[in-house]
Amino acid sequence: MIILDGKKLADKIRNELKAEVKMFDHVGLAVILVGDDDASRLYVSMKKKACEEAGIESFEIKLPSTVTEHELIAEVEKLNINNKVDGILVQLPLPKHINTAKIISVIDPKKDVDGFHHVNIGSLVAGMEDNCFVSCTPLGVIKLLEEYNIDPKGKNSVVVGASNIVGKPMASLLLNRNSTVDICHIYTQDLKSHTINADIIIVAVGKANLITADMIKNDAIVIDVGINKLPNGKIVGDVDFDEVSTKASYITPVPGGVGPMTIAMLLSNTVKSAKMRLSK
Ligand code: NAD
Repeated sequence: MIILDGKKLADKIRNELKAEVKMFDHVGLAVILVGDDDASRLYVSMKKKACEEAGIESFEIKLPSTVTEHELIAEVEKLNINNKVDGILVQLPLPKHINTAKIISVIDPKKDVDGFHHVNIGSLVAGMEDNCFVSCTPLGVIKLLEEYNIDPKGKNSVVVGASNIVGKPMASLLLNRNSTVDICHIYTQDLKSHTINADIIIVAVGKANLITADMIKNDAIVIDVGINKLPNGKIVGDVDFDEVSTKASYITPVPGGVGPMTIAMLLSNTVKSAKMRLSK
């Protein structure tokens, strides 16, 4: 069994990006943080630190949880026309009174480095990955597979979890690479009947120990996107790592697998945006 080391690959990519950023006059990423959710604050500070290390200027716009949809849209529109900003990211989740899809649709697709705008999603589904931004987490999974020479072509893949930000773009990326893709979600009956035949299993649900050893075939490739905090404070994924790793051929750890790749891909998308700006 081989551990897919996302931390190592992410460090390598971040170093390469740092060298690349030096060749630009300026690269900037703006992050809008609404409210004071602890997890969101932590993610934003991690992104800010990663930007600083790569030489990318980060702009943080903090808004109170009482901000109106109208006010939030006005902030996004300001960033859309700010020449110093190559990438715009609205940290999710947003408060309930705000329509998330509406806010994302206001971001200029050319600055949508999260890849959540419907224009970018459409391009991804149409197989135009080079000309769009792809959601960072699934893109990071693909880079990790590539690093270990795992080609999804012709393989049976199962994506467990069908969110707009992970599961659905993940399925599109695999399909674009000629994998046969099954997408499972909360209403899937008999999850095991899908996972047991998979050559590649990608799990993005948010439920500790959802995938157990009896659900996978020998030598399956297992990618665990999930992040769960146990009552004892330990961070685990969605896969029963100890048992599943005895059967899998490749597996990602949590932490140290997909998580670091997500941040590396955010920086990579921001540099891609700067390149696209300059090439115009
Ligand atoms: P989400 O809540 O938006 O979506 C969860 C999906 O799982 C849904 O499609 C739902 O139908 C499905 N699901 C729920 N219970 C299920 C079950 N019992 N069986 C099969 N499917 C089930 O979550 P998300 O934003 O896609 O995130 C999923 C997980 O990935 C979370 O743990 C999140 O923290 C983690 N995550 C990690 C990274 C990273 O960088 N590692 C990035 C994004 C999300």
